[in-house]
Amino acid sequence: MKAWCAPEHQPLILVEGEGAVLRDIAGRDYIDGNSSIWTNIHGHRHPKIHAAIKRQLDRVAHVSFLGSTNVPAIELAEQLAGCFPPRTLTRVFYSDDGSTAVEVAAKMALQYWQLSGQPAKTRFLAFEKAYHGDTTGAASLGGMEMFTRRFSAIHFPVQRIADLQALSSVDASLLAAVIIEPLVQGAAGIQLWPQNMLKVLRTWCDANRVLLIFDEVLTGFGRTGRLFACEHESVVPDLLCLAKGLSGGCLPLAATLATENVYEAFLGEFHELKTFFYGHSYCGNPLGCAAALASLQVFREEETLKTLSAKISLLRDELHGLRALPNVAEIRQCGFIAGIEIRKATGEPFPWQNQTGARVCLAARSHGLLTRPILDTIILIPPLCITQDQLIRAVEAIRRSIREVCEQHEN
Ligand code: PMP
Repeated sequence: MKAWCAPEHQPLILVEGEGAVLRDIAGRDYIDGNSSIWTNIHGHRHPKIHAAIKRQLDRVAHVSFLGSTNVPAIELAEQLAGCFPPRTLTRVFYSDDGSTAVEVAAKMALQYWQLSGQPAKTRFLAFEKAYHGDTTGAASLGGMEMFTRRFSAIHFPVQRIADLQALSSVDASLLAAVIIEPLVQGAAGIQLWPQNMLKVLRTWCDANRVLLIFDEVLTGFGRTGRLFACEHESVVPDLLCLAKGLSGGCLPLAATLATENVYEAFLGEFHELKTFFYGHSYCGNPLGCAAALASLQVFREEETLKTLSAKISLLRDELHGLRALPNVAEIRQCGFIAGIEIRKATGEPFPWQNQTGARVCLAARSHGLLTRPILDTIILIPPLCITQDQLIRAVEAIRRSIREVCEQHEN
């Protein structure tokens, strides 16, 4: 806040956007290199999505989801369930953002075991360096010390493991659920999981009677090259969290999908009090659901995933060209999610206090690219609609910025 409010700081004030490009108040254009914090899918101001929002706005902006429902929410739930194999993830619970999608999943898992006659199953297993959101429950599950340390006094205890090797020593008897960001840990700096990890986890959860939660808040809606990351391993979790790209990145909306098995545990007579006591004012917001429906329609009409595969290869080739830079220590890519880790030419990390990654991203701004680092990993997660030319320019902006910042100032 001190730096932001300093008299010499010129805040970036964004005023409009089109496709993969954002414009600031001074009329400067930038490629949206992190999809406006990993949300945007089909580009800014997509005509079909905006028309759908406006149509809904002309009818009603919001109605309660407590004791009533609305047409876009009904249709969206149907379509989301239809994205998964029949009789798998059949039920949808709406909330507002990634954190609440995770809160819902955690509370559902806990109550599921109470309703299934195993109330002692109250613990959660999560991965080191995981990120699942900032609300207290979601943050309890997260393993990024820097984000969670100060609040640890109010977090619930979570068993954390680094990788699958540690699974064998886990006592599953008191576990309600395991949660993972499938294929890639985003906020950890784009850290890729080994192949087949989801399959192994699924088998372990089934054998040990533990629910499996996939947090696809980042990976959902095409980012990994498939509509959902779990498709790469043909694994379906018991609970699946969606947000960010769900509305095409236009409005806050989240969904937690559940299997019929989980859903059925909550069925009962009123006096049995199996009710899932959870809800937010804006659950199932019709505008967000209308945007999400339009986004799914754009996926179909524009064959977004089909055209994406060539762009993923192009991104891989362009990023490969950065390897020659002495300060590029590692490039990690999962579909359209990429992280470029910079270090000193000696291979040592830059002192974190130098904010080298942030300075590279600031330099990238002057080359027409907006993005943010995670420490010294430069993130490139563009909207899926980015053109090949824009993609090449985005990587070129990163190259020039790394050279300017690292080679001239740090070595
Ligand atoms: N889960 C994952 C995997 C995320 O990357 C994020 C946000 N970066 C969240 C959850 C939290 O989402 P939100 O910021 O919408 O609450």
